[in-house]
Amino acid sequence: MRIGLFGGTFDPPHIGHQILAAEAQQQLSLERVLWIVTPDPPHKQGQPISPVAQRIELVRAVTDADPAFELCTVELERPGPHYARDTLQILQGRYPTAELFYLIGQDSLRDLPTWHDPQGLLAACAGLGVMRRPGVQTDLTALEAQLPGLQQRLHWIETPLIEISARDLRQRIASGAAYRYYLPAAVAALVQANDWYRR
Ligand code: ATP
Repeated sequence: MRIGLFGGTFDPPHIGHQILAAEAQQQLSLERVLWIVTPDPPHKQGQPISPVAQRIELVRAVTDADPAFELCTVELERPGPHYARDTLQILQGRYPTAELFYLIGQDSLRDLPTWHDPQGLLAACAGLGVMRRPGVQTDLTALEAQLPGLQQRLHWIETPLIEISARDLRQRIASGAAYRYYLPAAVAALVQANDWYRR
């Protein structure tokens, strides 16, 4: 069995995330994709992030709408900061016979050497599913030199480039710009009903 692990801040989850998860599920023949909401992301220390309960409610709205998606709250079970390597090792213990594929955007691939124990993360997964991201360059030769074995595990997910980011969406909503169709419908409805991201 192959399982996709999709970790993120999801503040808010948007259609770029949905496309990444859905295409990875199909292209990598994943039985399901676990959306892992990170309460305390190591690379966003000191930055304002919406409460984890809000982000979980939004991600649940996405996962509830697709039988191949599942909300995963494993990172709520330990204090932060939450390193992906640790989460992968915990999930490896829970799914000992599964092949785990860690799903990321190209910006995350570029930054992988700065993550906590990236070699340990690579060792704990069967593959990395990566979706290209506009404006991001990756030097695969340099990455391979820093993380030997990376290219062997790398699977590019074929999609059009999606120029949407959660940061941009937070700014759109706060400034009163149009945002509705950049979000899954259920997420947009929750954002509107709760007046989230308005300031
Ligand atoms: P922010 O703008 O708040 O930094 P983000 O969407 O980049 O948010 P996360 O919510 O943590 O960050 O994203 C989870 C994963 O989804 C990351 O690996 C990120 O690279 C990837 N991702 C997000 N948006 C896109 C996109 N438009 N195209 C490809 N990958 C994406």
